[in-house]
Amino acid sequence: MEKVILIRYGEIHLKGRNRSFFENLLVSNIKAAVKPYGAVLSHTSGRYILSNFDEKNANKLSEVLKNISGIVSFSLAIVCASVYDQISNVVIDLSKDLKGTFKIEANRADKTFPIKSPELAKMLGGVILDNNTMLSVDCFNPNHTINVDIRENNKTYIYLEKVLGMGGMPVGSAGKGVLLLSGGIDSPVAGYMMAKRGVNLVCLHFHSFPYTSPQAQEKVEALAKILAKYDSHLTLKVISVTKIQEEIHKKCNPNFMITLLRRFMFRIAEIVAKNEQTSMIITGESLGQVASQTIESMTVVESVLKDSVVLRPLVAFDKNETIEIARKINSYKTSIIPYEDCCTVFLPKNPLTKPRLDKVIFEESKLDVDSLINEAINSIKEVKIN
Ligand code: ATP
Ligand code: MG
Repeated sequence: MEKVILIRYGEIHLKGRNRSFFENLLVSNIKAAVKPYGAVLSHTSGRYILSNFDEKNANKLSEVLKNISGIVSFSLAIVCASVYDQISNVVIDLSKDLKGTFKIEANRADKTFPIKSPELAKMLGGVILDNNTMLSVDCFNPNHTINVDIRENNKTYIYLEKVLGMGGMPVGSAGKGVLLLSGGIDSPVAGYMMAKRGVNLVCLHFHSFPYTSPQAQEKVEALAKILAKYDSHLTLKVISVTKIQEEIHKKCNPNFMITLLRRFMFRIAEIVAKNEQTSMIITGESLGQVASQTIESMTVVESVLKDSVVLRPLVAFDKNETIEIARKINSYKTSIIPYEDCCTVFLPKNPLTKPRLDKVIFEESKLDVDSLINEAINSIKEVKIN
């Protein structure tokens, strides 16, 4: 009996004339991800079918599919011709070791199949009861649901479980975004959420070596690698803000350190975004979480941008909601390894929660902003994520 994986996609149905763009992207993302397993992808009305793989790789393929945005759910299914006797043989075999209660969920997408769904469900239910005395019928709250999906390609797919996919839109369908990736808990989650909505991630990490350690950067590389599971085109750039922080420390009111540093970060992010031909900057900020994440701080920092938008997917999240996702995507364990971040270097005793733009501009006027930015941009390095 041939096993295949039946893949369902959802929201891209809504995209009208652009639909083929989204579907083609999803197809090429799936094909690239399953290539190492030699599996073949085909299409039948509203489903993709993965076939031709070694059955012992089914679990690995399942892990791969869970990380592909745009997939709503999928099922490991047995496929047979849409012929009643063949269907009933598969159903008997699939249910032979089950105990408890069951129901049959029949779906006749192929209206030329001669038996209507309710009738087919009744017939197959009867066959199961005749062959397995450990099972009884419960249509409302069954232990097992045996799904029989009769598709238009003359084939019927029979399966027990639906595995939830990550949903969202095919990665790449929403263009690129520059993700400000620290080593913390929030920014990797922000990156995951945007990849899920179709964004290819250009990760940008600011370090202050030698005040921050090489291990702090290794941790960021490990986080980028975790995110690359959702976006195989992901890149990571690291850039030094050491000189910028030293200059602020030397010349400005210490309470302005974080505000001024963040304005530099955003200016640099905008330059990187332009080079990447995007206007999207993504951060892990959440309203009110720390001094730099009040609306006043965000406004003063964001005002340095000319042509970009800042997307903050976690803006309304509580920390524990973010942690829940961090655990799910397996970034949490890495994020909590204790290494310093550049934001914690020269940390002021009283960071401003409501910085005033005129005062910030006054402090900034003590610095040669353009040459500091140029110097930082010249230090930019691309790190390979394998
Ligand atoms: P995170 O857990 O993501 O580090 P946080 O709660 O610690 O966030 P901040 O340190 O204020 O908050 O940083 C807010 C956002 O600024 C981060 O989510 C990230 O997007 C960006 N950011 C902070 N530090 C860096 C850095 N060293 N490199 C790149 N981006 C950074
Ligand atoms: Mg942080």
